[in-house]
Amino acid sequence: LFGNVEAFAGDPILSLNIAFQGDPRTEKVNLTIGIYMDGNGKVPVLPSVKAAAEKLGFGVRSYIPMEGLADYRRLVQELVFGKGSKLLAEKRVATMQSLGGTGALSIAADFLAKHTPGRPVYVSDPTWDNHHGLFQRAGFETKTYPYWDGATRTLRFDDMMKTLEEAPAGSIVIVQPVCHNPTGVDLSPAQQDALSDLLIAKQHIPVFDMAYQGFADGIDEDASFVRRYAERASSFLVANSFSKNFSLYGERVGGLSVVCATADEADRVLGQLKLAVRRSYSNPPTTGAQIVATVLGDPALRALWEAEVAEMRVRMKAMREALAAEVKKLSNEIDVGFITQQRGMFSYTGLSKAQVVQMRDTDGVYLVESGRMCVAGLTENNVAAVAKSLVAARGA
Ligand code: PMP
Repeated sequence: LFGNVEAFAGDPILSLNIAFQGDPRTEKVNLTIGIYMDGNGKVPVLPSVKAAAEKLGFGVRSYIPMEGLADYRRLVQELVFGKGSKLLAEKRVATMQSLGGTGALSIAADFLAKHTPGRPVYVSDPTWDNHHGLFQRAGFETKTYPYWDGATRTLRFDDMMKTLEEAPAGSIVIVQPVCHNPTGVDLSPAQQDALSDLLIAKQHIPVFDMAYQGFADGIDEDASFVRRYAERASSFLVANSFSKNFSLYGERVGGLSVVCATADEADRVLGQLKLAVRRSYSNPPTTGAQIVATVLGDPALRALWEAEVAEMRVRMKAMREALAAEVKKLSNEIDVGFITQQRGMFSYTGLSKAQVVQMRDTDGVYLVESGRMCVAGLTENNVAAVAKSLVAARGA
């Protein structure tokens, strides 16, 4: 019956992690997967999360509504759109609790496939690979807009705008508003505004994928692109994730917000999203959302969490500086500016696949074969070795 089922090639990043786990070298360094690690190379349990979990105890495990916990959904809305948001006052946002950012995008793709079918979906070149997969699975054809210039390690902003200008009106456009994965290159506020003008003029449907809120400049600052867009546009979507900024990867906590033209429209959209969830997994899990809602809803825990997010952000920036300084010590020929200018968890190094393989084989330093490095895997203890490996691979 299943004799013709094709083998799954595996996810390239997850497969690299398995290879890393099996690598016997003690000095190995994992800079592949997008997981924040602390200065000791451990995935942290945030004290705010621990305190919330203790406050909740084992808690209630009954079914929760298809759309998720009401408090959680309200707090997601306030975190994404800002507490004083006009959209929220006008009740124009349909927000669902989702299974992480991936679950949010998956519901978004299915919703758009059903209600706005046949439109092209544009994603950045390059992007997080699952953008292609999730939207293709929902039945869309995905296309790319230019984003990264490998030669200059900067944004191809004009080319990006040209492609989106020439795209059919009403196209779906996935936009990462902050801490772009995989490049670490974001739009400046002026570029964000110019892109917003274009998206509105062409009636494109942006899907903002915000997986790293708080990892660039601050929790509110990182939402500013979405919030400024919200002041001007009537219909768009936002997927957000608490995997990284709460270090709750395995709990699968995120949100999908669909911004609508009217409160009545938002009500009907929420109904359709609930129906989609009912037909898929019926209702979301309890623990992660209860923890996030407890932290965000309690002033003391929230202040603690904001300080913890700041600590993660500052550590990643410090590691970028340290890597740039270590590379500079070894070679004057490598321009290190890109390492410190890029934001968030990732740095696109411009290293070729052969160079990445050399770093892995020779030094046990694991990057993704595209040259993407997760800077959150750098520590005081491994940064000099990583720099040495990188310089050797570059042959500089
Ligand atoms: N979008 C982007 C751009 C991401 O980098 C990630 C995580 N790697 C996600 C979405 C998915 O996040 P989650 O783990 O919460 O599903």
